[in-house]
Amino acid sequence: MEHQKKKIAILGSTGSIGTQALEVVSEQSDFLEVEVLTANSNADLLIAQAIQYKPNHVVIADESKYLQVKSALDPLDIKVFAGNKAIEELMGITESDLVLTAMVGYSGLKPTISAIENNKKIALANKETLVVAGELVTRLCAEHKVEMIPVDSEHSAIFQCLVGEGLNPIERIILTASGGPFRGKHRDELLEVTKAQALKHPNWSMGAKITIDSATMMNKGLEVIEAKWLFGLSKEQIDVVVHPQSIIHSMVEFNDGSIKAQMGLPDMKLPIHYAFFFPQRVKTDFRRLSFKEMKTLTFEEPDAITFRNLGLAYEAMDKGGNMACILNAANEIAVEAFLQDKIKFLQIAELNEKCMSQVGFIMKPNLNDYVETDAETRRIARDLLA
Ligand code: NDP
Ligand code: MG
Repeated sequence: MEHQKKKIAILGSTGSIGTQALEVVSEQSDFLEVEVLTANSNADLLIAQAIQYKPNHVVIADESKYLQVKSALDPLDIKVFAGNKAIEELMGITESDLVLTAMVGYSGLKPTISAIENNKKIALANKETLVVAGELVTRLCAEHKVEMIPVDSEHSAIFQCLVGEGLNPIERIILTASGGPFRGKHRDELLEVTKAQALKHPNWSMGAKITIDSATMMNKGLEVIEAKWLFGLSKEQIDVVVHPQSIIHSMVEFNDGSIKAQMGLPDMKLPIHYAFFFPQRVKTDFRRLSFKEMKTLTFEEPDAITFRNLGLAYEAMDKGGNMACILNAANEIAVEAFLQDKIKFLQIAELNEKCMSQVGFIMKPNLNDYVETDAETRRIARDLLA
């Protein structure tokens, strides 16, 4: 075959999105190859992936695992680095055509910024990057003429609905939400829910953090903010509707009242595959949606009283500045504490709200302000939990 394969860097290759992205690479190995793999601390899986996919560079963020990874991969001529700084620096060295940001939380921010500054095209799974510093990140993309293709299923849906629309005005977008495992429950029924219950998502199998975010509706809140920055929308233009079947992945309403929806079975490999090949569509043998089996699609209003996090995200977006960065950091601490059985389910949103009122507000933050806001919020959140 005479074409060049597309070189992919996968940041967070050992996670839920990362491993599904590698399945896509395997299925499309005539067109795709892996250039970079990174993980936080799962050295065994990272080594196994590197042996299978033969990237040029591998980074393990946890420096105590460096020797293990290095000695396993040295004979294969794979360069191994350790530490979070190395992930950032590698973006200046690697010849990747596309960087998939699939790490979780705030840890995605600096590597993503570095990739953009090195003119790398981004496939964005790590939504927290846009939540923390959307203004800065979108400005950098514009300055470096870097394309950011969403991987989050809702945003991929909107992105796909906008193909061919040029500058046609969007009246609003409608983000769909599954409602998570506690859809229809009231506050008093959620007082004692356990982490095992919260981790049982009805439609999607994902990493622990986003699964808890889905149960609290924080995930939809983060996605509202992600959509604002990806598509340049105001808060009045972003609606959320609960759609328990997760078949319509999201919709765009145009100024003539016409609505476009993108549909498919809930499978993250679809938006990952789309981002890898955009603007082309490449044939897959993913399972097809059957309207004989899927007869009913239903829609409900989100319950903003029970799921307070969704409202907090709208408030943070409205306030601007570093407020969404505060919300994100508080939520990362709250979710971690919930997963360690240190707080109850409803305390997640309570901690988020307290941090939003206690951490110093900055109207026009620079990168350093975001870094400090994140650290300061984590400190305050931990104090509030102590
Ligand atoms: P996982 O927790 O499954 O995986 C996270 C990945 O990031 C792992 O490779 C992990 O390494 C690595 N990582 C975690 N912390 C750090 C750190 N501090 N420094 C460097 N690397 C780190 O997450 P998901 O795959 O579920 O989610 C990834 C991102 O994609 C999130 O932002 C999420 O919101 C978004 N997303 C996920 C979806 C899904 O279906 N899972 C759907 C839509 C969006 P290790 O394995 O060593 O810990
Ligand atoms: Mg999503």
